Amino acid sequence: MESQRVFCEECRNDVNYVVEETQMVGTIKGETYEYMGKVAHCVDCQSEIYVSEVHDFNLKALYDEYRKKNDIISLEHIREICEKYAIGKRPLSLLLDWGEQTFSRYYEGDIPTKQYSNLLKEIYEDPHVYYELLEKNKNNLTSVKAYQKSKLAVQQLIGQVENEDKKINHVIAYLLSKCEDITPLALQKLLYYVQGFYYAFYDRFLFNEDCQAWVHGPVYPEVYHRYKDYRFNPIKSNKERDSLDLLVSETVILDSVVKYFGCYSGKILELFTHSEEPWLAARSGCKMFEQSDEIIYKEDIGKYFQHIKSIYNMINPSDIKLYAESMFSRL
Ligand SMILES: [Zn+2]
Repeated sequence: MESQRVFCEECRNDVNYVVEETQMVGTIKGETYEYMGKVAHCVDCQSEIYVSEVHDFNLKALYDEYRKKNDIISLEHIREICEKYAIGKRPLSLLLDWGEQTFSRYYEGDIPTKQYSNLLKEIYEDPHVYYELLEKNKNNLTSVKAYQKSKLAVQQLIGQVENEDKKINHVIAYLLSKCEDITPLALQKLLYYVQGFYYAFYDRFLFNEDCQAWVHGPVYPEVYHRYKDYRFNPIKSNKERDSLDLLVSETVILDSVVKYFGCYSGKILELFTHSEEPWLAARSGCKMFEQSDEIIYKEDIGKYFQHIKSIYNMINPSDIKLYAESMFSRL
């Protein structure tokens, strides 16, 4: 590596230099640490010369080693906290109830105490910890805007973390990626059929959520709230299919439901579900347009579709077609 010319004490001149990696030893608070550092040599006389970038690099390498050995949060993570939670250095110091400049000093490279480091680590790793801190000490902040901005960021983060693990969200992403023009209403019905037929064929539920017997058919409330802004319009999706956590048996059912039910509009699917036992039973006693949040237990959905599978003599998931066509012909 060569770069700008630097003054060489031996040559008494500005010279080019080369940099090499080398094992180094440094001391912090009386303890010695070995680390991989760099040295610069004059290309003319080979003597070691001082280059400020190399000096900074070594200092950081030594401190990184110190952090590693003492289990202190890394500088990178400290800096990411601000980005992650959309919070400035000073506001974060205030939230932490630290001196106004304390966090800024850590951000610039100062090493936090073990106690402060542990707190920063928890905040870095768990958005819930940060969220709690933000709510508890929001009155320390001098700007409401800063609070709101950070709150939005952490809520999104928490939402993402929780959603990522949920099977139903992988199922939704798959359905959205497979169907063009899928409305919130149609999505609700496809989820219900996927759950029912998956159970019928594999004797277990694809996801945990229960739906409710709303006026317009079975509805998964959380999914409803997520997409309600689309109203009667197709939901936009750009999710990649390959990143989804789905088994082959699962995608086989999903594909079949998409193929044989996804071709109908949400309104048609709603009519299908209105003639099916699980929705009817959960709404027994309700008037036609009466609101209800009665749960349609997935066990009841599973039982119903097991029965359907048996009376239609379904052998393969592609036989779902028989049921879909018969439902449509009976409208
Ligand atoms: Zn020299």
